[in-house]
Amino acid sequence: MTALDRLKQVCAHSEDPSEIAPHVEEWRGSYHGRTPLLLKPSTTDEVSRALAICHETGTAVVPQGGNTGLVGGQIPFHDEVLLTTARLNRVRDVASDHIVVEAGVILAKVQKAADDAGRFFPLSLASEGSATIGGNLSTNAGGVNVLRYGMARELVLGLEVVLADGRVLDLLRSLRKDNTGYDLKQMFIGAEGTLGIVTAAALKLFAKPAHQATAFVGVDDPKAAVALLDRLQDATGGLLTAFELIPRAGLDLVLKHIPDTREPFAAPWYALVEGPLTPEMLGDDNAVLAASEAQRTALWRLRESLSEAQKKEGPSLKHDISVPIASIPDFVVKAVAAVQTLVPEARPISFGHLGDGNLHFNFNVGDLSKRAEVARIVHDMVRDFGGSMSAEHGIGTTKRDELVRYKSPLEIELMRALKRTLDPKNVLNPGKLISA
Ligand code: FAD
Ligand code: ZN
Repeated sequence: MTALDRLKQVCAHSEDPSEIAPHVEEWRGSYHGRTPLLLKPSTTDEVSRALAICHETGTAVVPQGGNTGLVGGQIPFHDEVLLTTARLNRVRDVASDHIVVEAGVILAKVQKAADDAGRFFPLSLASEGSATIGGNLSTNAGGVNVLRYGMARELVLGLEVVLADGRVLDLLRSLRKDNTGYDLKQMFIGAEGTLGIVTAAALKLFAKPAHQATAFVGVDDPKAAVALLDRLQDATGGLLTAFELIPRAGLDLVLKHIPDTREPFAAPWYALVEGPLTPEMLGDDNAVLAASEAQRTALWRLRESLSEAQKKEGPSLKHDISVPIASIPDFVVKAVAAVQTLVPEARPISFGHLGDGNLHFNFNVGDLSKRAEVARIVHDMVRDFGGSMSAEHGIGTTKRDELVRYKSPLEIELMRALKRTLDPKNVLNPGKLISA
């Protein structure tokens, strides 16, 4: 019997091109893959049996959650078997301080389950209606509440992982404190499916934040935005949950391309800030405080529509970078100038998670012919500022070769050693993140 025939006996599956099609296309249409077989396990045991066969037969397999990843990690580019976690979709347990969910549970559903229990799960991204917890953990997702609650990694208490050879590693504890040697679960968070398949997670829940308010504040430049961040963190005792930067040029694109949006007031840059804010804290700043949930939603829509508006405007060059927060103003000035030396018509749209030192440092351009050169300029400058060329979206295939350029040889050697130890036959998402 062939490996594929054996896999078909393990769990529900599909070879139907029309069912497979949406799983091998990335949402923006940037990546196209192909697979002979879509596996649809609904239990950890089925994942375990499938991986044991893949390991034994040397059959490559790509794990996929909601297929919202931005770096191609979830796409089978070389006829690998595709394993969707969509049917691993149970909420196993909700307690006051944690929730245990299977990997295929959609992020918005976790937020809702927490809310229904009178608790709060802070991970929040524009893709939360489709992205899964397994994908969020495997990419160590960020989003808009990192400022107060940290990235996905910091929200995990325990994990259940199926190893490349099919063994089940049960680390599904819900302890806040546990100093019993190496914290093995951390290896699988941000590993993009290259070290194991996450099947379930115990996640931290929080009290709902009290007195939340949402403000849209006009500022002169990124330097003023950083000063505002410091001032409001001091005023709130460090309780801001979100601090997002929006440039004038970005807002203009939103107003132009996204229906039913309007400008709150004119300013060169804006900060969208959330936390226990009061009108006094905003003083005589050029600012509005949302007076209703509808107004809050409208303000967030201006921020969350930026990517879509940029896409509608035409080709763009995108960089997901982080630098130390205090360096952001200097970085923006220098990096924009350097890019415009090469592509004078490039229009900068730098927006995003200023409170985390993370900008989506993008440019609208006439065409994409200079994509690689511009990325090199931006990423070299990021390195000179002590930053990261992938702050939250990961490596996948898009940045795999860049990784080797910007990490030290010793880091790369240790990463490869980890990959060889956990996946000696290189069957788990081969060619993603790091080449074998
Ligand atoms: P997929 O795209 O299916 O997979 C992503 C990676 O994880 C792949 O390498 C895949 O192989 C692996 N994987 C998936 N499930 C598992 C599993 N169970 N076990 C092992 N490996 C697995 N990201 C941010 O960090 N912050 C943002 O603010 C943000 N905003 C976004 C906005 C939009 C509109 C979109 C489309 C994307 C955004 N993203 C953002 C990127 C993306 O949503 C996240 O990376 C998300 O965490 C991916 O989840 P997913 O379930 O779709 O994973
Ligand atoms: Zn982001």
